[in-house]
Amino acid sequence: SPVAEGILRRKSLQLRNIQQDWKESAEGQKMQELRRSLPAYKEKEALLNAISRNQVIVVSGETGCGKTTQLPQYILESEIDAARGALCSIICTQPRRISAMSVAERVAAERGEKLGDSVGYKVRLEGIKGRDTRLLFCTTGILLRRLLLDRSLRGVTHVIVDEIHERGMNEGAPSSPARTEGFTYPVRSYFLENILEMTGYRLSTYNQIDNYGQEKSWKMQKQTVRKRKSQIASAAEDALEAADLRDFNPRTRDSLSCWNADSIGFNLIENVLCHICRKERPGAVLVFMTGWDDINSLKDQLQSHPLLGDPTKVLLLACHGSMDSSEQKLIFNRPEDGIRKIVLATNMAETSITINDVVFVVDCGKAKETSYDALNNTPCLLPAWISKASARQRRGRAGRVQPGECYHLYPKSVYDAFAEYQLPELLRTPLQSLCLQIKSLQLGSISEFLSRALQPPEPLSVQNAIEYLKIIGALDDNENLTVLGRKLSVLPVEPKLGKMLILGAIFNCLDPIMTIVAGLSVRDPFLMPFDKKDLAESAKAQFSSRDNSDHLALLRAFDGWKAAERQQSGHEYCWRNFLSSQTLRAIDSLRKQFYHLLRDGGLNKEKSVSLKTMEDGPVLLYSNSVNSQEPTIPYPWLVFNEKVKVNSVFLRDSTAVSDSVLLLFGGNVSRGGLDGHLKMLGGYLEFFMKPGLAGTYLALKRELNELIHM
Ligand code: ADP
Ligand code: MG
Repeated sequence: SPVAEGILRRKSLQLRNIQQDWKESAEGQKMQELRRSLPAYKEKEALLNAISRNQVIVVSGETGCGKTTQLPQYILESEIDAARGALCSIICTQPRRISAMSVAERVAAERGEKLGDSVGYKVRLEGIKGRDTRLLFCTTGILLRRLLLDRSLRGVTHVIVDEIHERGMNEGAPSSPARTEGFTYPVRSYFLENILEMTGYRLSTYNQIDNYGQEKSWKMQKQTVRKRKSQIASAAEDALEAADLRDFNPRTRDSLSCWNADSIGFNLIENVLCHICRKERPGAVLVFMTGWDDINSLKDQLQSHPLLGDPTKVLLLACHGSMDSSEQKLIFNRPEDGIRKIVLATNMAETSITINDVVFVVDCGKAKETSYDALNNTPCLLPAWISKASARQRRGRAGRVQPGECYHLYPKSVYDAFAEYQLPELLRTPLQSLCLQIKSLQLGSISEFLSRALQPPEPLSVQNAIEYLKIIGALDDNENLTVLGRKLSVLPVEPKLGKMLILGAIFNCLDPIMTIVAGLSVRDPFLMPFDKKDLAESAKAQFSSRDNSDHLALLRAFDGWKAAERQQSGHEYCWRNFLSSQTLRAIDSLRKQFYHLLRDGGLNKEKSVSLKTMEDGPVLLYSNSVNSQEPTIPYPWLVFNEKVKVNSVFLRDSTAVSDSVLLLFGGNVSRGGLDGHLKMLGGYLEFFMKPGLAGTYLALKRELNELIHM
């Protein structure tokens, strides 16, 4: 309509003015200058030209050249300059939460705005997005869910799929497997054998450790030092011995347990970091770890170290998915003179984020990846050896601004046995969620669709996934999505856990089930810090002593934390029980998300009905029933043991039940739809039903049967 057009036009002009004001401001000019220095800037016109002429383009360029931060911005700027700002809507996907958040933050800053103005982000549990947001950074999962709701992505003008070389299972348009490594200054590599010579076995290092002892209690430290010395020695021996194994096979990389970046490896990392910190040469250190648990435990260990834990000398940072902007600034900015920045990160620091002042890299040689054993049909998330390409990429991070050094914590012979490239995720996952999504996006036959992938997954894996989905009732015999399958496809967890949620809703135990499922899909909140393993284990045992259940231990720990939070003592509770409050918070927010998704799917109806609406005739409860005191009850139905007619109908011994219990266990409706039988607890209870409800009752019962597949 002309009115709407007028509004859009005004809005577009407004956006253009804001953009121009920024470009003309002093700070804006400075930022422009910086952005022009990036390699991508030279290609700006060519890129915009290509985008305007083609429906799909593939862009590749070396790491750090400006693909992520610049390209979406070029599009946004040119649309705004052409007074089309209010009409454009750009979505840029990132493989990880942290990159979506940090990139959005960066791009907003480059535009002199705050998040939620023209630039925003959306990831699984959170997002910042305003009415005027035209460029949205999100995870691939978010885009996929949007696609599920609207296949045509109405209103979206540009979709940018970043980091496509990772070929996550959500992406169907693969590019070549080679990574662009780009220009770097020369980086010197040290492997385990060199490192041991430099640190572990050198007398001075041991003396160094001994000196720390004087600062704390002598005796206690001495013992620790002795223990550490022997641990370093035995870890090194193990590593070197295993490196000699002739049958080292990079394909079954996880079966080789020669070198784990675990608590023993931590001591080696500690030594390497000391070695670097004692150097005159300034420069940040980037440590590649396998996962968040390791990063946390290592950080704990380093913080109690006299040198590495000294904030006047070392700025110790962990790079994680929910960093706020002040933490991000610390990571990307140069620290004050005389302070050594050490960043602990996972393999996302290989390509998705670039920290410019890194001169030293410590590479543990492993990354957590989901691998999949098709024969045994078991998915596993294990630290596995990285590929040569990844190792080179990690090393290259040390040479962005000047010649650097890289410490590989594994022998050269292990490096030589690495695979050239990592398998794409498509080939490493059990494919269940992917198959479900192929079906809910109506992409046709699963096997046919997947056989068209650049590197198709093994037919056996695909078959396993399809079988699995049939067994849990998400697909029918003809591979069509069932009611259950459709509900599962919108839940952000693997199908098996999704089904747990749905059954939890049906059986009215959603609250604990949400906690357990959230815990299983986030990560274990129980911490097992090195040095305090025994204490941590007995703390965990307290939560499970009664029923030999890890699931219930998780549940109790979470509930205890919630209670402690209400008393403002959540932190103390976590500390006492070796729990990660950060993980518990993540579980809590995932729970909230489940709750909303299930409610939108109509599964966790909450109703409170007054007894009168229970039945059309006057029904009264015996005064000795607990329910007779309640003006309203939380469930819409009452089941009862005995019905006595005096003047009106009296119910004896009643229990309030939900719709779903009634639907599940309620038998056929008899006597003109007036009441029915509820088969439960081995016997029969009767329930009442209004005559008009019989049809609805039967229809719901059919749907429920299909849903739970019983
Ligand atoms: P690419 O996607 O091509 O690898 P990016 O667009 O991520 O490159 O990065 C371009 C440049 O911007 C790099 O020099 C990088 O260091 C810098 N950069 C990226 N994010 C930030 C940030 N949050 N703070 C400061 N500089 C950043
Ligand atoms: Mg990038």
